[in-house]
Amino acid sequence: MEFEYIFEEVKIKPSNAPRFRLNGKEVDIWNEKFINYHSRNISDYVRENLIRYELMNMDPFNEIVGKKIEKELIKTALMSGSNILFKGKKGYGKTTFSKSILKLLPEKILAIKGCKIHDDPTQPVCFSCKKKVLEEESVELVFVPRKWIRIPGDPMMTTRQLIGGISIQKIREGYDLDHPEVFTPGRVLKAHRGLAYFDELGSIPSALQTLLHELFEERQVTTPEGDIVPMKIDSLIIASTNPANYKGVSDIKEPLLDRIEQIDIGPPETIEEEIEIGLRNMSLKSGARIPEWHLKILASAVRCMRSKNCRFANRIEIEPSCRATIKLFDHVRASATRKGHEAVMLSDYGERFEVIKLALRSRFEIDYDTEVSKDEIVEGVVNDSIDSVCSSIYNSIPRNVFSEIIERISEIKVVNVYKANGLADFAISMCKDISEVKSALEIMLESIARCSGFIERISDGVYSYKAYDR
Ligand SMILES: [Zn+2]
Repeated sequence: MEFEYIFEEVKIKPSNAPRFRLNGKEVDIWNEKFINYHSRNISDYVRENLIRYELMNMDPFNEIVGKKIEKELIKTALMSGSNILFKGKKGYGKTTFSKSILKLLPEKILAIKGCKIHDDPTQPVCFSCKKKVLEEESVELVFVPRKWIRIPGDPMMTTRQLIGGISIQKIREGYDLDHPEVFTPGRVLKAHRGLAYFDELGSIPSALQTLLHELFEERQVTTPEGDIVPMKIDSLIIASTNPANYKGVSDIKEPLLDRIEQIDIGPPETIEEEIEIGLRNMSLKSGARIPEWHLKILASAVRCMRSKNCRFANRIEIEPSCRATIKLFDHVRASATRKGHEAVMLSDYGERFEVIKLALRSRFEIDYDTEVSKDEIVEGVVNDSIDSVCSSIYNSIPRNVFSEIIERISEIKVVNVYKANGLADFAISMCKDISEVKSALEIMLESIARCSGFIERISDGVYSYKAYDR
């Protein structure tokens, strides 16, 4: 009897449709007002929206800084109806990319009200909706906003949590098909007509991966628990995997890999992109300014720790990601704001770079039996980074300006950047905003101190003339 609906494929056309109602009012879903919200597959919507963005010459993934080649690959893969696997270390934007792709799904879809998986009124896949549209005179509909369902790669995940299904056991016990315990949708079924984001796909137990593969290939799957999933799930699958995670968990199985295009997501290519990502994602949106020289010092310290050329490269096992850059920006701004600085000063790094260590310590790992500590590595890397930014500032000071500065300091002996005047002309030319002047003067003097030896830093913001006694 009603059991047969489970396996029946149902297509609703105007000729066999019940009366559809939305918010209690009867509607013609084939009217142009509603036609875009049903009867189509997710991949159709994605293609259509991609073309729309191309025609407008717009970047659908404008939240993502840089990554031009990756964006092109994603668009091509989606256009040809493929699923995507992002491969890369944590913190380089795999999740952000998946959320950005969500934009290509329709803002809302028309679904059968009360359906646990938001069935399409013209092609329902769950038995209870099939029964409704075939037997009932009127069926209530509802608009559902687009769905981004995160499916964590949990090695302890059960089949019921991941997939779910119809319990044959419960039906045999005499439960009605509509009973809530008969059909329990897992996360994958809940992503029907939406985006399923498999965060760490490789950490899903391999038996479940095989089931997933069947689920997306076939119309019917039986789980080891004896539940059946007699429906074709329509969702856009985006997955991620971190090559560094090989702590005994199974990798991604061959049949799944075969159905999914791998796109590598690495660190930002340039320091400008690194800075842009840091600034966009900071949680402290206002407060002291972070002048360009500080942005460069901090971002290049992080980038150095990822580089093979870093003098600690063979010690660093897990490199700091963009989250380190973001947190560094947050912490120096926080420190400067607390101290009432208009712009970040070197003292905001902490006496021995404690503020920087705070942002970095938990965001990189070093090998076990290393003679240098994490803190020593941070100190070394940040000092190198200050050196390199200072040397480019030093080289940009015109010779005549340099002579004037040195002459002036030799007269007054000690300069306090918090009170200084008369020395700031060149510093002002470095600023994007007048509030940066003290910070600019400090970094200019620091550059002269580090590169020429005419002056030295004696305390926070205070530089003194060093008589040339060599
Ligand atoms: Zn349904």
